[in-house]
Amino acid sequence: MLNLKNFINYVEKRNPNESEFLQAVTEVVEDIIPFLNENYPEYETLKILERLAEPERVVSFRVAWLDDSNTVQVNRGYRVQMNSAIGPYKGGLRFAPDVNLSILKFLAFEQVFKNALTSLPIGGGKGGSDFDPKGKSDNEIMRFCQSFMTELYRHIGAETDVPAGDIGVGTREIGFLFGQYKRIQNNFTGVLTGKGVNWGGSYIRPEATGYGLLYFVACIYDYIDQNLEGKTVCISGAGNVAFYAAEKAIALGAKVITLSNSSGTLYDEDGFTHEKLTYIATLGRNIDKFTEKYKSSSFHAGEKPWQFKCDIALPCATQNELNGDDAKKLIENGCKCVAEGANMPSTAEAITVFHAAKVFFAPGKAANAGGVAVSGLEMSQNSIGQQWTSAKVDTRLKAIMENIHKTCLRYGKEESGYINYLKGANIGGFVKVAEAMKSQGIV
Ligand code: GLU
Repeated sequence: MLNLKNFINYVEKRNPNESEFLQAVTEVVEDIIPFLNENYPEYETLKILERLAEPERVVSFRVAWLDDSNTVQVNRGYRVQMNSAIGPYKGGLRFAPDVNLSILKFLAFEQVFKNALTSLPIGGGKGGSDFDPKGKSDNEIMRFCQSFMTELYRHIGAETDVPAGDIGVGTREIGFLFGQYKRIQNNFTGVLTGKGVNWGGSYIRPEATGYGLLYFVACIYDYIDQNLEGKTVCISGAGNVAFYAAEKAIALGAKVITLSNSSGTLYDEDGFTHEKLTYIATLGRNIDKFTEKYKSSSFHAGEKPWQFKCDIALPCATQNELNGDDAKKLIENGCKCVAEGANMPSTAEAITVFHAAKVFFAPGKAANAGGVAVSGLEMSQNSIGQQWTSAKVDTRLKAIMENIHKTCLRYGKEESGYINYLKGANIGGFVKVAEAMKSQGIV
């Protein structure tokens, strides 16, 4: 019988000082080990869990580039190819100063389960750099991306590993990366997703994570015979995910009262509208300037959104942005549902608080899978040389999110009737990957 504590110790010993990776593995194996001992005891001898917690390959490389003042800059680039049991490695690239191997391994590990939940044939990976895109010129971004791809190109391919965007990597960066890949390989191929719609990208890809998050939340409410009409929503973040989550929440009749970035939280007691969101998008990082135009709003410098009273909380910024105290505050204020638009935004303590309060807690690997799902649809469109309409992609995205919700119900419904979405997502993703690993032998 596999023992949870022993397994966590084993992972900790092999990956010293990688707290985020250990957190992500612990969050999964707490659910998997009891399930596996009961249903798949043979997986212990096959060392399926040990293999899942060991990346198939990790590359780390130097990225040297010249900034606008002709000074040489040196960053570190990575690609973590975690698991390819069900398809080519798939997952984003993150450019942010805090990027390190622990963060990329946690993200790649999560991605394996998330991608399996989409039902598409995609394995899990993640990569990026400690490069900080903030304050850089377009030319600096381009030179960095070209230097980054000049090493990365040899490790990726449309049928090997297909990176995409994540924090700090959007359509602009994917464009520069793609241009350099094509130049080196003399090959126009679906090696990256999140491309522009005029050059191989899919409609709805920019919106997909935020829209998918709301489709998932709508499934949760539908399950209890309710809808989002009149519900108050707090969202953190002001990037792609937060923005399109807000847009879809509003379209579904909810009232969105917060957005945030690393400088603080923007609160609007009247709720944001489509027009207000369009205005925020023009402000860049200076979201505090919004208050000059809209008197119903206030900016709370250095604060998080979780102090405001809401029915639904959607953390869409970054890992560990919502801790145990924030979780308690949300519960005290009557919050009933937390769905993660970011990857692992809730700490282990916060999750314990949500489960104890029996609120709906939808983990990122289920709730934010819409982004990678539409990336998978972009790969399909590229490989058949077609481009589907927005309506077709959106319909498929919605169906995928509904299917993930069903998987969570199947594996996460407890005797009391409470739906443990985390358990459902962990087991649902695991079963698919583990069966594929078993079929493919000891590799
Ligand atoms: N970075 C996104 C995620 O966390 C999307 C990855 C992709 O599209 O490959 O799932």
